[in-house]
Amino acid sequence: MTNGQSRNLGVLTSGGDAPGMNAAVRAVVRTALDRGVDVFAIHEGLQGLVEGGNKIRRMDWDSVGGILHQGGTVIGSARSKAFRTREGRRAAARNLVENDIDSLVVIGGDGSLTGANLFRTEWPDLLSELVGEGAIGEDAPRNHPSLAIVGLVGSIDNDMFGTDMTIGADTALHRITEAIDAISSTASSHQRTFVIEVMGRHCGYLALMSALATGAHWVFIPESPPAVDDWAARMAESLKAGRAMGRRSNIVVVAEGAQDRHGNPITSTDVQQALEEGLGDEARVTILGHVQRGGTPSAFDRYLSSVLGHAAVDAVLSSTPDAEPQLIGIRQSAIVRSPLMESVEKTRQMPEVIKAGEYEKAMEMRGGSFSEAFRHLRTLLRAAPHATPEGHRPLRLAIMHGGGPSPGMNTAVRTAVRLGIDHGHTILGVRNGIQGLLAGHLIEMDWMSVDGWVARGGAELGTSRFVPAERDLARLSERIRELKIDGLMMIGGAAGYEAAYRIFRERVEDKSLRIPIVCLPATINNDLPGTQMSVGADTALNSIVGNVDKIKESAVACQRCYVVEVMGHDCGYLALFAGMATGAERVYLPEEPITIADLQIDVAKLVRGFERGKRLALIVRSERADPEMLYDTGFMVRIFEKEGGDLFDVRQAILGHVQQGGRPSPYDRIQATRLAGHCIEFLVEQADRPSPAGSMIGLQNGQVIHTPLDDLPLLMEDGTQRPKQEWWMALRPIAALLSQPEPPARPS
Ligand code: ADP
Repeated sequence: MTNGQSRNLGVLTSGGDAPGMNAAVRAVVRTALDRGVDVFAIHEGLQGLVEGGNKIRRMDWDSVGGILHQGGTVIGSARSKAFRTREGRRAAARNLVENDIDSLVVIGGDGSLTGANLFRTEWPDLLSELVGEGAIGEDAPRNHPSLAIVGLVGSIDNDMFGTDMTIGADTALHRITEAIDAISSTASSHQRTFVIEVMGRHCGYLALMSALATGAHWVFIPESPPAVDDWAARMAESLKAGRAMGRRSNIVVVAEGAQDRHGNPITSTDVQQALEEGLGDEARVTILGHVQRGGTPSAFDRYLSSVLGHAAVDAVLSSTPDAEPQLIGIRQSAIVRSPLMESVEKTRQMPEVIKAGEYEKAMEMRGGSFSEAFRHLRTLLRAAPHATPEGHRPLRLAIMHGGGPSPGMNTAVRTAVRLGIDHGHTILGVRNGIQGLLAGHLIEMDWMSVDGWVARGGAELGTSRFVPAERDLARLSERIRELKIDGLMMIGGAAGYEAAYRIFRERVEDKSLRIPIVCLPATINNDLPGTQMSVGADTALNSIVGNVDKIKESAVACQRCYVVEVMGHDCGYLALFAGMATGAERVYLPEEPITIADLQIDVAKLVRGFERGKRLALIVRSERADPEMLYDTGFMVRIFEKEGGDLFDVRQAILGHVQQGGRPSPYDRIQATRLAGHCIEFLVEQADRPSPAGSMIGLQNGQVIHTPLDDLPLLMEDGTQRPKQEWWMALRPIAALLSQPEPPARPS
């Protein structure tokens, strides 16, 4: 439709499959249809392009229904020898011309994207050759002067430049983390040693992040080989020390492409032998292999693929014939375009950099949070802290929770305890939040007291929603003085933040309260200022998505509408993201309270959908979608049930407290670790200042950011428990477009 070209659009998945590819295909198809463009799925990747025929199939709105939760790629992927040949690509060009397709969204790894780009550059010549052979009409080159290509990276390895996360990497981390958690429990029952090999030939992302997320005791990644040649002895020594401290298992994670400083591979068998010799005990190897690729996509991968697929269509439709092909990725939480081949080339440099032994450069290329994770991991996995540096002032830092329990709270405490002790400070754990502090219920935490906490749900220290009143503040001040607390870390939700704010505010009157205070966002509601994500929200979201998948499956045989109620208090984050990840037709948020007019429109849409042959409808509502709680879930169900008559029945599912429980997701563990590391640095840095600061730490656009604690009331919306700014509200139109129950009307 653009540039005078017909621009039918093709979408394909190629190379190694990755969970989330289906969500990307769904988003491409539905966005294209919404833009009035005909869209074709090319089955079996680039091979399907070469073969043509029924490998190229027109897609409609419903042909991508019910695929969000499926792993792999429903349109198939393949490795194609034929596409590597010019004849193969000529056949591919002919097949595209025959279907009037001259725009392609290619979802694959660097190989597929390179192949697609080559095809694009050859396009005019291929078409001339085909005209010469009489295989296509003479007007074809005029109608399709160029081939527009946009790439999305589908790869579980997270090995590609141009995007912070590739499609599938988060799901692979889920699979690996689940496996290592499972192995850890049997390993510790028998005090065993396990070597776990994970994928990643030139990229240590999966190995590093899974080791960090599971509290593994040693890790080998290609980008940063062991500093010494006798790495085996160094590893054995550390693991022996860990045993002596009471650790019951040894877990060593090895990336597929691990090597020593001279470029010799370090295989899982090498590590096994080294451990058996060094520890004098049996070590077992588990190679995780293809389970890492498989299974249902995580909530994040469904979200990421949906927004990338959506953006890819607009990018490809607006591209001009001379424009460089673009890669669409996510960088620092924003969807970004970058020149495709630049990213491919940079990706291909990495193995060369590693081969040349330029390890510092390799780590630098991976970026700040990768290096930081590696640095943290190397401290956290130690059996004991480093020796305290000379001339340093030991501090007494208190850690506590406030608000409801949130998965990842323990992970944050573990990091704070170990990094704090490692810097020579005393860490005091406050029992049960503010009330515990008032009562003086604190325990001195030691290195091993947090062993195993990385993966534990709930809040071991205990939490409460108690917020101190005026009269409590004097007593709190007394406690802080008595216990000689030099800094306070609050890991919690809204009630914890409010408590921290009140204590901090009191410093103007009360000198004892002139201590640094830092708040780490930990609530499933994701309703805190100063951060785009709070620890626990990703876990809750995955739990909701897993449950809704099951609910949807249960209804397969009947015409049914489900109304699912999720938590979130005054914040609709969980509802919107759960809706996006499960394909809900409608999401109700507290930010846009339900009206009767909405319900009427939705009833009409439901009726039309079921009349068209729909078997299942899903509506997700936030628990406070009606702040007055009058139009509650039961009320909605009754309206839909009555109006649906015999056409469909309606059921409700109020998910309740399962959303707050469970082991933290890999993302929550990684972010909890990262943020807690920064919190300790902040407290230490501020403690000696005459007027120490109070801060709400958070993640904004991929960076760790401090926001003054004094600003808390300014940043909250009046009369509610949610921040004024909610970045994710901008995603509502995409969510609504992709999940609407019926295709948009075609422009006439
Ligand atoms: P990935 O896309 O996951 O990196 P591969 O490297 O196996 O996977 O590439 C997938 C397919 O892309 C190959 O089977 C081949 O058809 C095509 N391809 C890769 N590199 C090229 C190339 N240089 N020229 C043409 N086609 C290529």
